[in-house]
Amino acid sequence: MSTLQGGCLCGKVRFKVHQPPLRTFACHCHFCQRVTGSSFYAESIFQRDAIEFNEGELRQYEHLSEGSKKKVFVHFCPTCGTTLGLTFERWPDMQALSRGCYDDPNAVQITSHIWTSSAQTGVVLPALVDCFAEARASLDGKPEQATRHEAPVMARPQ
Ligand SMILES: [Zn+2]
Ligand SMILES: [Zn+2]
Repeated sequence: MSTLQGGCLCGKVRFKVHQPPLRTFACHCHFCQRVTGSSFYAESIFQRDAIEFNEGELRQYEHLSEGSKKKVFVHFCPTCGTTLGLTFERWPDMQALSRGCYDDPNAVQITSHIWTSSAQTGVVLPALVDCFAEARASLDGKPEQATRHEAPVMARPQ
């Protein structure tokens, strides 16, 4: 894979990533709906030290997660307001980057959908990807069972 590059809407903040993501997924939780102002958040998880930011100013907003009671840090451009990614008190070595900020968002594929139990009406879950009603693992780290649909399905009844 070639170096993944991206940035915010105004272009002041730019990043390069030197390793492929550990995973890329769509999260339908209420936090992700709110932070994007959209239906879900498509994000990739990387080792934090694989990401190189330019000198453009990034600010952070600190949010206390309802579920884990740990902090999530939202990193955004103060000029244009784009959310570039997240870091986590729970996983200090990891960073999420917003798939929509990549110069080519299709360079990485979404391989799972999480928190589908809170997906908005009208959202369709694709066939043959791992879907989790909530997180991929419980708060104590036990993996949850994924569901794979044979054909696309509505995430919830209209
Ligand atoms: Zn910007
Ligand atoms: Zn989420």
